Amino acid sequence: MAKIRVVGIGPGDYREMTMRAVDALKACDVIVGYHVYVDLVKEHFPGKEFFTTPMRREVDRCRMALDMAREGRDVAMICSGDAGIYGMAGLIYELRGEDTSIEVEVVGGLTAATSGAARLGAPLTHDFAVISLSDLLTPWESIEKRLECAAMGDFGIALYNPSSMKRKDYLRRACEILLRHAKPETVCGVVRNIGREGETTEIMTLEALRDYEADMFTTVFIGNSRTKVIDGKMVTPRGYRDV
Ligand code: SAH
Repeated sequence: MAKIRVVGIGPGDYREMTMRAVDALKACDVIVGYHVYVDLVKEHFPGKEFFTTPMRREVDRCRMALDMAREGRDVAMICSGDAGIYGMAGLIYELRGEDTSIEVEVVGGLTAATSGAARLGAPLTHDFAVISLSDLLTPWESIEKRLECAAMGDFGIALYNPSSMKRKDYLRRACEILLRHAKPETVCGVVRNIGREGETTEIMTLEALRDYEADMFTTVFIGNSRTKVIDGKMVTPRGYRDV
């Protein structure tokens, strides 16, 4: 039976890819993905056929992968981080629809929220929300509502897609919404290029984050009201000491 694997490759460092993801990529004939992700894994999987597509052509990329699977080839579609978090796993299921002649296997991965959190310290120790600021597929009003609700609930927050060429001021707009409920001195952190060349981390206040210029390879962390800085690390208490 034709099979397509949708594989999360983690943030970028080969050591943060799961063994199951490595096995899945070893088992396939063809690896399909955005060129940045293909470049990250290529050297570790010699002998595979690679296909790349531009960033915005997700639907084409998935259709191409499904067609190749139908032709009887073992295909792996790679996504950064986890395959199901703003990734392709859902789209592959949707496009395959009821055509159960193709088996789909999703192989989960280490998402930017958790790999980035580890770099900053322990910012997500308590309940947290993951929110993408990309309004390509989601109306901005929904994003605003989710930001506001997360801040009202005093959740820690991991923000994905904080910026792009066309959306330079989205992080600022998000911070302004959060500041309706969270204090300006709330501890925040940013991690760029997790597991990739040029990885950097920075800790700052929510007020300072408002003026931070993030790029599309940045994940942003907003602490809850109890998050603090301990020896340069961003730490959200689990609460053991006050129970
Ligand atoms: N499926 C991915 C998320 C894709 S959305 C995952 O689970 O991690 C793309 C956004 O994820 C980026 O804009 C950025 O906010 C975040 N991201 C993904 N990989 C990253 C990395 N290596 N370093 C920093 N941020 C990353």
